[in-house]
Amino acid sequence: MQKEKIYVTKSSLPDYNKFCEMIKNIWDSKMLTNNGYYHQILEQKIKEFLQVNNITLYTNGHLALENALNLIKGQIPAGGGLEIITTPFTFVSTIHAIVRNGFKPVFCDINPDDYTIDVSKIENLINENTCAIVPVHVYGNICNVEKIKEISKKYNLKVIYDAAHAFGERINGESVANFGDISMFSFHATKVFNTIEGGCLAYNNNAYKQPLEQLKNFGIKNEDVTNFIGGNAKMNEFQSVFGICNLDELSNNIEKRKLLYHKYLELLKDIKGIKLNKLNEKISYNYSYFPIVISEEYGLSRESLIELLNKNNIFPRKYFYPLITELDCYKNNYDSTLTPIALDISKRVLTLPIYPDLEPEKVEEICNIIKKRELK
Ligand SMILES: *Cc1c(COP(=O)(O)O)cnc(C)c1O
Repeated sequence: MQKEKIYVTKSSLPDYNKFCEMIKNIWDSKMLTNNGYYHQILEQKIKEFLQVNNITLYTNGHLALENALNLIKGQIPAGGGLEIITTPFTFVSTIHAIVRNGFKPVFCDINPDDYTIDVSKIENLINENTCAIVPVHVYGNICNVEKIKEISKKYNLKVIYDAAHAFGERINGESVANFGDISMFSFHATKVFNTIEGGCLAYNNNAYKQPLEQLKNFGIKNEDVTNFIGGNAKMNEFQSVFGICNLDELSNNIEKRKLLYHKYLELLKDIKGIKLNKLNEKISYNYSYFPIVISEEYGLSRESLIELLNKNNIFPRKYFYPLITELDCYKNNYDSTLTPIALDISKRVLTLPIYPDLEPEKVEEICNIIKKRELK
């Protein structure tokens, strides 16, 4: 019999009967989208869950981020600079959202231990054209939010967090949604909490609510007035119901992930040449990713290890490789050697399978293969 394939993640689905029971109401109301009943419920639930003043839901995280940056752009005085300091060690969405809004990304290197933006290198990149910082809580590692706040105040910069990986996390007891001007969370099928496709913006400035609502709905203010040039990025009722049901299971899912995460830590901690993600005791994590970084001491290259795991039907992913500045659409305009740590990590990182119903025995099997460096 063909062994079951294990991928880096497996989408979390809500209870089938509960989902069906709720969507019956959609057949009665015939309200499929446009800030419907379930949309409003989900928005309220997420607002409470993230403990933030405002939530705007989106059909996906990428458009949420594009809209957040679009809003910021509208506030820049004519002739103002359009440089945004960000990280090259992220999913393409972050940088595409910056560039598609007409901003210029300026890449800052990352920390070698938690892969977030290296705050000690931000100030050197600031000039009169800098308008914002877009840091990423990569793998759920929360950035140095205090230092970023300090820098942003000093230079009067906006901060938009790509918090796609950090849904539900806290630092020093504070919700991750409460840092910077706006945080974007992704509810894509592969994320720790999903609405099939989906996402949201979280922000405390009430003045952002109205323009963001308009930007995601063609700029329409009311029946008679359209005073923004907006796109369409609305979340529909099916996505909302999926989210309402999935949210109930999130804390349980995070607990299951936590057990697997600690099992990996325990089993991999003494293997030479395998560097583990450095945990910060102030953070309560969602355990959405398990990255390892492979060095020469390990004896096998990353590609050989992937081949070994693939032969055993295990499919880890090279998040994030190639580095953004190495991609065909960016490589001619940017120099990866300016962010040497990010470049180096991207060539050696591997994210291992982790999802709530992954059996602990599978984690043992994966760790054994990594330990033995050969097929069982
Ligand atoms: C998933 C992800 C996004 C985009 O979210 P979607 O909901 O898939 O559009 C943006 N940034 C990062 C870092 C992500 O991982």
